[in-house]
Amino acid sequence: MPVLIAHTISEATEILAENPDATILNGGTDLMVEVNFNHRHPSSVLLLRNVPQLREWSIDSSQQTITIGAGVPYAAMETGAIAAAVPALAQAARTVGSPQIRAAGTMGGNLGTCSPAGDTLPVLSALEATIHLSSQDGERTVPFGEFMVGPKKNSRLQHEIITAVTLPVTGNRQGYSKVGVRNAMVISVASACFAIVDDTPRLAMGSVGPTILRAVKAEKFLAEATKDLDNISDEIAREFGEIASTEARPIDDHRSTAQYRAHAIKVLASRLAVRGTAS
Ligand SMILES: Cc1cc2nc3c(=O)[nH]c(=O)nc-3n(C[C@H](O)[C@H](O)[C@H](O)COP(=O)(O)OP(=O)(O)OC[C@H]3O[C@@H](n4cnc5c(N)ncnc54)[C@H](O)[C@@H]3O)c2cc1C
Repeated sequence: MPVLIAHTISEATEILAENPDATILNGGTDLMVEVNFNHRHPSSVLLLRNVPQLREWSIDSSQQTITIGAGVPYAAMETGAIAAAVPALAQAARTVGSPQIRAAGTMGGNLGTCSPAGDTLPVLSALEATIHLSSQDGERTVPFGEFMVGPKKNSRLQHEIITAVTLPVTGNRQGYSKVGVRNAMVISVASACFAIVDDTPRLAMGSVGPTILRAVKAEKFLAEATKDLDNISDEIAREFGEIASTEARPIDDHRSTAQYRAHAIKVLASRLAVRGTAS
């Protein structure tokens, strides 16, 4: 299998234009598993790991945003400046796999796979992140809500690479938590990100639908129930969780049941609303 190695973003898009069937490889923690299990058979691979631009990140203080390169590994998000700017993303990154997976795995790969269980995706949904894509035709940005279109399906065009993600730096309370069959090295059976953005509560739910779902009714209820979003009462939080769980669309599968997932969302949502953490 030919491995095509890019050193810059423009080189990567050029290679992709010349080799439209090439499969993009970043950390390889999803793709190589699929190849090893004989589920995918790439005719060639475009390796992005040697593109330094994709591992850069920057904060725009005037816009109050952070832009994180698609090749920044989870390990770099767990602590430090990225974690301070987007605490929920750090919480999500800390729950991904093992230290080895977090050293190699990237948000670009999480977006490329677009599993409803992808840990960064509820954070990108709640914070209404923007995805940056690049190709020989130019650059475009897509709101996360329009990027993920189904289970393991996104709106990236075959000749585009995901280059970065822009998120707001809110300075307000936000948190991510997931439930799995054990405490570590686990794919979520339900996950949620709660965030306050522009004085408005947001809740995004993972692993309980074909895409990441926003709990719009629960968000509306909470916005109307209290103006003091930093001190949400247990009673309001409980109702918030109950409404959120009615908005989930969970299924039974090998990891869990729909009933347990709906219950888990109720607990995650209400705890995140009160404490900013569900643990
Ligand atoms: C043991 C183990 C545990 C794991 N635990 C978790 C977990 O707890 N939570 C979780 O969310 N995930 C988990 N994963 C899955 C995986 O680690 C993540 O999805 C990770 O984010 C993938 O990133 P990557 O860079 O390795 O992607 P890759 O494997 O390189 O690529 C994944 C997909 O995205 C595409 N892609 C990658 N980069 C780009 C780009 N820049 N532009 C366009 N397409 C791109 C690839 O073509 C491929 O289809 C686990 C995996 C393993 C093996």
